[in-house]
Amino acid sequence: MTRAFYIGRFQPYHFGHHAVITRIAEEVDELVIGIGSAQKSHESSDPFTAGERVLMLNNALEELSIRYYVIPIEDVRYNSIWVPHVAARTPHFDLVYSNNPLVIQLFREAGFCVKQSPLYVRKKYSGTEIRKRMIEGKEWRHLTPEAVVKVIEEIGGVSRLKNVAANDNSFL
Ligand code: NAD
Repeated sequence: MTRAFYIGRFQPYHFGHHAVITRIAEEVDELVIGIGSAQKSHESSDPFTAGERVLMLNNALEELSIRYYVIPIEDVRYNSIWVPHVAARTPHFDLVYSNNPLVIQLFREAGFCVKQSPLYVRKKYSGTEIRKRMIEGKEWRHLTPEAVVKVIEEIGGVSRLKNVAANDNSFL
């Protein structure tokens, strides 16, 4: 049995992430999904809480054919101890999927096999682009699964993001 690990901030979860996860599900038996930077929320680049992101993923992945675990993981200041920090919070996994260069580097140095998954229309399906559209009042719903749209609307996510961005010069 192969259990794999995939981590993202999912701010918010979008069709790029969804395409990757759907594809990973064809290759492994179980998937551990880490919600990265779990401590962050109410910031223009990280507007949603870990709990809200857990809901986004659980609801969007309801029909996934394999067993999956969605686990919030806080950042640590020491990159060199991040992999054991992740391992202590997750079920054992044999394989990592990522496109994030730091994640790839840290897991490879720790001896894990890391597979890179191709980017899926990255310019369109990107958290930065979606948050920018939300702040500018442009259409964004077509970029995320319907289940994610529902969560964001229920929590008033767009108005939260606009409020925090209005007080944040670094924007996105
Ligand atoms: P993200 O949500 O931006 O992306 C998650 C994954 O999806 C990445 O592999 C990314 O390349 C991929 N992706 C994005 N758009 C895609 C698309 N259109 N098609 C296909 N794939 C796409 O999250 P992230 O920032 O990469 O998440 C990494 C997390 O790991 C962060 O929370 C980071 O803080 C955490 N981390 C923490 C430490 C530490 O605490 N020391 C160290 C390393 C990483």
